[in-house]
Amino acid sequence: MPLPSAAQTVAAGAQDAQQVDVAVVGAGFAGLYLLIRLRRAGFTAVALEAADDVGGTWYWNRYPGARCDIQTTDYSYTFDPELESAWRWSEKYATQPEILRYLGFVADRYDLRRDIRFGTKVQTATWDEAAQRWLLTTDNGKPVSCRYYIMASGCLSAPKPPEIDGVGDFTGEIYFTGRWPHEGVELAGKRVAVIGTGSSGVQSIPRIAEQAAHLTVFQRTPNFAFPAHNGPQPPDRVAALEKDRADYRQQARLSLTGVPLERATEFSWQLSDAERRQRFEKALAAGDLVAMLSQLWADQGGDLEGNALAADLLRERIHAIVKDPETAEALTPRDHPFGSKRPCLETDYYATFNRPNVTLVNLRQEPIKRITASGIETDRRIVDLDVIVFATGFDAMTGAITAVHPITGRDGKSLSDVWAGGPRTYLGLTVAGFPNLFMITGPGSPSVFSNMVVSIEQHADWVVDRLMAMREAGFTAIEATEAAQAGWARHMADCSQLTLHRLANTWYTGANVPGKAPGLMPYPGGVGPYRTICDEVVSRGMLGFNLSGPDGAVQCNDGEVVRLQPDVRLVLNMLAELNLPPLESLGAEGARSFVKQFNATRPAGRPVGEIVDATLQGADGPLPYRLYRPSTPGPHPIVVYFHGGGWVLGDEQSDDPFCRDMCRRSGMIFVSVGYRHAPEHCFPAAAEDGYAALRWIAENAAELGGRLDANGAGPLLVAGWSAGGNIAAVTCQLARDRGGPPIAGQLLVCPVTDCTFDRPSYIENAEGYFLTRSLMDWFWGHYCPAADRTDPRASPLRGKLAGLPPAFVATCEFDPLRDEGIAYAEAMAAAGVPVEQLQARGHFHSSLMMVDVVATGASGRVKMAEALRRFAGMAERPEEAMPKAAE
Ligand code: FAD
Ligand code: NAP
Repeated sequence: MPLPSAAQTVAAGAQDAQQVDVAVVGAGFAGLYLLIRLRRAGFTAVALEAADDVGGTWYWNRYPGARCDIQTTDYSYTFDPELESAWRWSEKYATQPEILRYLGFVADRYDLRRDIRFGTKVQTATWDEAAQRWLLTTDNGKPVSCRYYIMASGCLSAPKPPEIDGVGDFTGEIYFTGRWPHEGVELAGKRVAVIGTGSSGVQSIPRIAEQAAHLTVFQRTPNFAFPAHNGPQPPDRVAALEKDRADYRQQARLSLTGVPLERATEFSWQLSDAERRQRFEKALAAGDLVAMLSQLWADQGGDLEGNALAADLLRERIHAIVKDPETAEALTPRDHPFGSKRPCLETDYYATFNRPNVTLVNLRQEPIKRITASGIETDRRIVDLDVIVFATGFDAMTGAITAVHPITGRDGKSLSDVWAGGPRTYLGLTVAGFPNLFMITGPGSPSVFSNMVVSIEQHADWVVDRLMAMREAGFTAIEATEAAQAGWARHMADCSQLTLHRLANTWYTGANVPGKAPGLMPYPGGVGPYRTICDEVVSRGMLGFNLSGPDGAVQCNDGEVVRLQPDVRLVLNMLAELNLPPLESLGAEGARSFVKQFNATRPAGRPVGEIVDATLQGADGPLPYRLYRPSTPGPHPIVVYFHGGGWVLGDEQSDDPFCRDMCRRSGMIFVSVGYRHAPEHCFPAAAEDGYAALRWIAENAAELGGRLDANGAGPLLVAGWSAGGNIAAVTCQLARDRGGPPIAGQLLVCPVTDCTFDRPSYIENAEGYFLTRSLMDWFWGHYCPAADRTDPRASPLRGKLAGLPPAFVATCEFDPLRDEGIAYAEAMAAAGVPVEQLQARGHFHSSLMMVDVVATGASGRVKMAEALRRFAGMAERPEEAMPKAAE
């Protein structure tokens, strides 16, 4: 007899299945809120929950000391002000029983239990293409047939199996923090081991030590921890909430973490030691994860040096508390940046190691060999035990999703196979090839990098709103496109470059589960930006989704939702919100003073060895210059630098942050030249000043501290940005044609090289990226009469290119000048000039200049500095110029 096909099996199973519009897996914070929303939207829904009651995380994690680590003021539902008034939290960080009571209270208040099938584990899920429905099989009762299948199965709900030999041999008691017995565990008088020192271990160890006869803690990696200072809810936080509840909640939704706390804006190097310590003490006193992670200094999260300053203060504290120096050192994290692993809030954690009944075993020095019938054996000792507690964590983010196996999507594809190389999603909500499947706080969404309740509400709202809109429009299936998904992966990777998470082995990256594909799983771009992206997907016609319905109805607006680098997107959004008048409408003087004011608000840039302001001889009189000298011992090669500003704006100080940064990274002197500006001094004044400045600097190189070669000069280099790039390029041509001085290399950043406006980049980026076509038109209009524009001193692309110095040409994707920069690089290369190019993806005209604002531009400056050093025949970069981790 022929076997039934998969489709026939699904069809047969669906016949006696429970029929609903939507099946939700899980009845934690996410599942409960989904039920409320779905019911209000008029969908039939069922939640399937493996546990015997609601609560999710707070149902399973009943270990001693279990609490939330986001203040309860924030770690609560916000969708219903009446619910908020009806519940009072008793503590700053509520205990597990209290949070579980809260979720039970919510379930009762909205009468949710009648739509939840408890004690029911979803085992498989299969998409039925013909019926456009999912069929879910369970271990208890009927299968479920649904149009939409939502995994609200939790990011931290699948405990990680212990990968230690001999677990089965142990004759004592074994417990997992994530599956703690409901009846509690009697630990008094017992010899107990805790394996693991993540948040669960750090919370439970002090409480277990109070009960056990002896506690042995087996630690593989020490974590950063600082005090929770639990107690009543802090009055200032409560007052902030109660002053304007709606506004407070809205600020949370738009914040980076889901908690509305101001982030530090000053950089570590702008603060004295005393100021830094004062900020640290304040954050320490606040006992707040988000405060400690974001309120010290602006560079604490993305820059290794800024981070190390915070980490050192936290380390110091451990040594101040723990009496035995060896134990203190073992507890001190040194292998990962602060915040790259989730830090822990502690109550008596470090002091616990001063107790006589507590021993720390450092598994880095003596790994566990095996678990035996009577205890744990390491390389150095045998510890006899009555109880072993595994606080070893979870198969996070993907574990609960892929535990439903198989999840079979379109064309019989299994989700586990599709994700074999790591989870791929669109917005962390959907997966291409799996129509009508949604994940709440899935991989690729902010999820565990945020106050989860805020993220859960946003996801549930977004999903249910989409289902309603589809119903309205007559669509029955929704599926992410491959292009949108690939774009999201790129955006995720771009965001993660701004963090230090990749420098730690954590469950964020799957590193805690042997064999799991590595890669940062939560979205690190922040809750607020993420929300605006989800909204943008909708406002752009469900960008990146395929919608279909009966009778062949189809809608697909394919594309990538974020093509800009994440910080460029923020900067451009901020500029758009300022609603600035076009620069060209201000007149030359107005535009100059605007730029001056605007520049005054920039981060100041890091210190260099010395800054000298003086004058040099230009083509027609003295010109101001600013010299940046590295702090390394001289003499140094000199870079003659020309600032940007369309030949009209700016001065020798206006690219100050860039010059400082490049001086530090390259280890070279930068001399920024204040060449003459249009319209007062038109073409060729700026070009001739450029060349004259080069000559003067060559002649005075020794006095300026320049390194001299056998001929008594050089290596001399030139660099410039935008119109300054134009002057730099022209200067190289003039130096070649007018008998020197020799130039060792040229760095052209987004240079103007030609006078036509018809290249694709001018058309694509005519508006919206700050430097507009109209502004360029205005610049050219001031600088150069139409008849002179084809002169190579105005349009160097039209000049002779052979015999020019080696060049590094940087261009940005969203810049009208992109294509003429690339054309110049290609034309020089064709003429035999050694040329390196950087085509900066996702960047705009000013990106590479915006030091400490557009952090994703830093890697470009690293490459520029390396190129300059190569041109100058220098090998290694000096220590201070080494790229920071965020690069
Ligand atoms: P969960 O609460 O994990 O609920 C998922 C439910 O799905 C579970 O009940 C599970 O049984 C069920 N399920 C899974 N698979 C299946 C299946 N196949 N069939 C049927 N049912 C299934 N986040 C914060 O923001 N702040 C905190 O302070 C905080 N503290 C935490 C403390 C601990 C100890 C842990 C482990 C996590 C903490 N988190 C915290 C993260 C926490 O998981 C979330 O805040 C939130 O509770 C997640 O809710 P959820 O509904 O998405 O998932
Ligand atoms: P975790 O952070 O992954 O910590 C697991 C610990 O077990 C780590 O110290 C790990 O060491 C160790 N470990 C894992 N496998 C091991 C092995 N085979 N041998 C020896 N040691 C091993 O897990 P968690 O503590 O359960 O926390 C997970 C997340 O849940 C937290 O980050 C947090 O988001 C959430 N949580 C929050 C709270 C709270 O305070 N509200 C409490 C608990 C959990 P390595 O680091 O070397 O891998």
